[in-house]
Amino acid sequence: ASSAAHQKVCVVGGGPAGFYTAQHLLKACQDVQVDIYERLPVPFGLVRFGVAPDHPEVKNVISTFTQTARHARCCYYGNVNVGTDVSVEELREAYHAVVLSYGAEGNRSMGVPGEDLEGVYPAKDFVGWYNGLPSNRELNPGLDCETAVILGQGNVALDVARILLAPIDELKKTDITQRSLDALAQSQVRRVLIVGRRGPLQIAGTIKELREMVNLPDTKPEMIASEFEGVAEALKVIPRPRKRLTELMLKTAVDPPAEKERQRRQAAARSWGLRFLRSPLEVLAGPDGARVAGIRLAVNRLEGTGDGSVAVPTGEVETLDCGLVITSIGYKSLPIDPAVPFDPRKAIVPNSLGRVQQAAGLYCSGWLKTGPIGVIATTMNNSFDTAHSVVEDLTSGCLDVTSAKPGSTGIGPLLDKRGVKPVSFSDWEKINQEERRRGAAQGKPREKLLDVEEMLKTART
Ligand code: FAD
Repeated sequence: ASSAAHQKVCVVGGGPAGFYTAQHLLKACQDVQVDIYERLPVPFGLVRFGVAPDHPEVKNVISTFTQTARHARCCYYGNVNVGTDVSVEELREAYHAVVLSYGAEGNRSMGVPGEDLEGVYPAKDFVGWYNGLPSNRELNPGLDCETAVILGQGNVALDVARILLAPIDELKKTDITQRSLDALAQSQVRRVLIVGRRGPLQIAGTIKELREMVNLPDTKPEMIASEFEGVAEALKVIPRPRKRLTELMLKTAVDPPAEKERQRRQAAARSWGLRFLRSPLEVLAGPDGARVAGIRLAVNRLEGTGDGSVAVPTGEVETLDCGLVITSIGYKSLPIDPAVPFDPRKAIVPNSLGRVQQAAGLYCSGWLKTGPIGVIATTMNNSFDTAHSVVEDLTSGCLDVTSAKPGSTGIGPLLDKRGVKPVSFSDWEKINQEERRRGAAQGKPREKLLDVEEMLKTART
C-alpha cells in the first residue's frame, strides 16, 4: 500500500538501476513515496537474468534491493510493461517525477551476411537461455559441434565461454536452469575461440573473468604467441588494472608453463583461446544452407595505440570452421514510448546528470542513461547521481510538489481497466520461495520458473 508521503516518484524497471535510484531517494527524502514498475513479475533485472550462475557472490546485492522493496515508502509493481500497459505520459501525470531505468534489452547486430543462420545466437539470448529469461527459454541452442566462436572479448563473452566449457559438476550447484544444464551435459563443444577486432591491449574483459578461464578445470589455453608481439614492451606504459590483465594474458600465451601446469594442459580435454585483430565478414552455412559451419574473418591491423586505437582491415581474409557462433558485441537500449526523447545513434535517452532533456520531471538511470557499460557498482553510482538530481529538483522548487499527485492510486485503476494485474513484492517472495523449494530438491540454490504464466499462478496461490 502507498504511504502518506506527499512527493510521488516512480521508477520504471526493477533492475539494479531502479533499486539503487529508489534506495537513494528514500534515504535522502523523508517525504517521498517511490513506486517501482517492472515488466516481468520477478525483480532484479540482469542480476537474475545476466550475471553468470557460477557468480553467486555478485547476486548478494539482491538482499539490499529486497530491503529497499520492503521499505515502508516503497512499493513494487511487477508484471507492468510501461509503454504498453501504461504510458510514460500517464505516469508523468500521476507522479511528480518519473525515472526511467529499464536497461538495455536490444541486441547490437553484426550487420554481416549469414547472421540469421541456425546456430548463430546473440550472447544476450544465450545468457537469457541459461539464466531462465522467459523469452529465451525455447532457444535450445545446438551444441552438437566441436568448435564454438564467440565474437567480442568483454566479460559477457568470457562468461559465455566459461559456461560452455565449465565442468557440469560445478554448474550443477548453481541456479542455472535445469534445461540448460541438461543441454550442456550433452554438449559436444570442446573448443571455444573468443575473437576480437582489436589487439590484446584493447581487450574489454577484466582480470577476474580471464583468470577464471585460465583456471578452468579440464581446459587448456590455445593462444597464438605471435599475436602478443610488442605487448611485453607496452606493459611499462599501461595503467594498473589493464597491466595485470595483460600480464596474465602474456603469461598464459607466451611463457612456457611450469611442469604441473604443463601436465594439466596435456590432460585437458577442452580448450579455449583468444583471437585478436579479426572482424566478422560473413557467417558461412554448411551443405544444408541452413546451419552455420564457419565464419569468414577480416584480418585487421591497429592504427594508433591504447584504448583509442582503431582496427583497419589489411585485406587479408581467414576462415574458421565452427558449428556455433555467439555474438557478444553489446546490448542496446530501445525506446519504449514515442513521447520520450531517444538518441537512436547512442541508443540512450539523452540526459544531463540523469535529467532527460526537454522533459521536466523525467529522469533516467542505469544502462539506459549511460549505454550498456560497466558493472553493477558503476550502475549504482550513476543511479545515485540521478537520484541526487531528482532530490535537488524536488527541494529547489524546480518541480511543483505543492500540487498533490495521486501516484499509484492514479495508475491502479488504469491497469485494472486494461486487465493488468500487478505482482507485489510479497507475491514475488512466494515465487522466490517456490523456486528455492524446487532448487533444494536438486541441491541447487534455486530452480527458476521459466514461464510468466506459471510465475503469476505461483504469485497468486
Ligand atoms: P537491467 O539490469 O537490465 O534492468 C532493467 C529492468 O527493467 C529489467 O528488470 C527489465 O525487465 C525492466 N524493463 C525493461 N523494459 C521495461 C518496461 N517497458 N517496463 C517496465 N520494466 C521494464 N555486473 C557485475 O557487477 N558483475 C557481473 O558479474 C556482471 N555480469 C553480467 C553479465 C551479463 C551477461 C550482463 C549483460 C551484465 C552483467 N553485469 C555484471 C552488469 C550488470 O548486470 C549491469 O550493470 C546492470 O544490470 C544494469 O542495470 P540496469 O538496471 O540499468 O538494467
